[in-house]
Amino acid sequence: MTSPVDPIGCSGFSRRAFFRFAAGASALASLPILTEAHLALAQRPQFADPNKGIHIDANENPLGPSEAARQAIANIIPRGGRYLFDIQEDLAATFAGIEGLNPESVMPFPGSSQPLHFTVLAFTGKNKPLVIADPGYEAPIWAAKVSGTPVIKVPLADPKGAATHDIGAMLAASSTPGVLYICNPNNPTGTTTSRADIEYAVANAPRGAILLIDEAYIHLSDATPSLDFVKEGKDVIVLRTFSKLYGMAGIRMGLAIARPDLLEKIGSLGGLNALPITAVAAAKASLVDKDLVPTRRKIIGDIRADTLAWLKADGYACTPSVSNCFMLDVRRPGKEVLAAMAAKEIFIGRIWPAWPTQVRITVGTQNEMLAFRKAFTEVMAASTAGLVPPLLPRKLAEHPFTHLS
Ligand code: PLP
Repeated sequence: MTSPVDPIGCSGFSRRAFFRFAAGASALASLPILTEAHLALAQRPQFADPNKGIHIDANENPLGPSEAARQAIANIIPRGGRYLFDIQEDLAATFAGIEGLNPESVMPFPGSSQPLHFTVLAFTGKNKPLVIADPGYEAPIWAAKVSGTPVIKVPLADPKGAATHDIGAMLAASSTPGVLYICNPNNPTGTTTSRADIEYAVANAPRGAILLIDEAYIHLSDATPSLDFVKEGKDVIVLRTFSKLYGMAGIRMGLAIARPDLLEKIGSLGGLNALPITAVAAAKASLVDKDLVPTRRKIIGDIRADTLAWLKADGYACTPSVSNCFMLDVRRPGKEVLAAMAAKEIFIGRIWPAWPTQVRITVGTQNEMLAFRKAFTEVMAASTAGLVPPLLPRKLAEHPFTHLS
């Protein structure tokens, strides 16, 4: 049994795993592979029952797996006594066929966090820094800590407008970068970096640098994918995940797409593990469902547009997101708003130190966003009147991911 204030209850991790993790935080070699959910949990001001309240803090997809994916999982369960490497290969071949790629350029993983982590480990080092946008997705930074790799954070260009990656500044940041990380669309802003800028980065990255293009959210937008650079044999690694539009974060499936020699380096760090056949089957069913991407893009896009329009009408500035998350400027310490919302069991977040008055909001269902609006109106009214309660006490000693925030 777990209580609502039990860190294990809110993370799903076993108690023993948690203590190992916390104890290992200073022993860098044992740092785990982090996902968005770990980072979101690290900023929760209070412990939460995952079955209660509204969770729009980890860029998850409340729609879950598609009907076809659910059916595929049910159908394959009886074969669960076998490893079935053939369906793993079939998944890579199916994706390659759809995208016009060589199947050897596609490597499946249980989510894209693993190949992201491995790419940083394989291609950076003490003299080969990681260059990353800020605010950006920090999981690569946590991977860089494992190898003691220097990290160069480059502020987003036009932060009050398009909030794109500043490709010129990223290229100028180091003469020997190991990895240049471009998240397109970006987490947390939901904004895209233009095709022209990415082409410029591919053409002008210093020799030996890998361009890691994270397309976790690409299906939600109409941004141009970067898979053609892989076909051209460039030093580019593209990551895809089934955690976002496909709603399979808990099922776990992702793909690394790159030249076979680059994949070999990533794979040598742990890419040959057998994958859960349920996840492989669900991913394949999702890929071949032609309606899924446009249907879900529209559902999530409409709710996003509605929420952004409501916030704008109320005088709030948000990043021009084309994804399932956006940054909202609350014009006061974001932490206070996050805590006051959490007290109403509406879990928003996260906050990036570079933008302390902004909070990230994940686009949930329409009902969830209506609940968000109601609570947000109340919180902001109380805050303006000086009534926001003090920050909720945070049980530091018990919190599983405190050291990440
Ligand atoms: N990349 C980005 C930018 C993300 O936001 C996430 C998750 O939120 C991931 C990669 C990895 O997700 P997963 O390991 O679930 O595929």
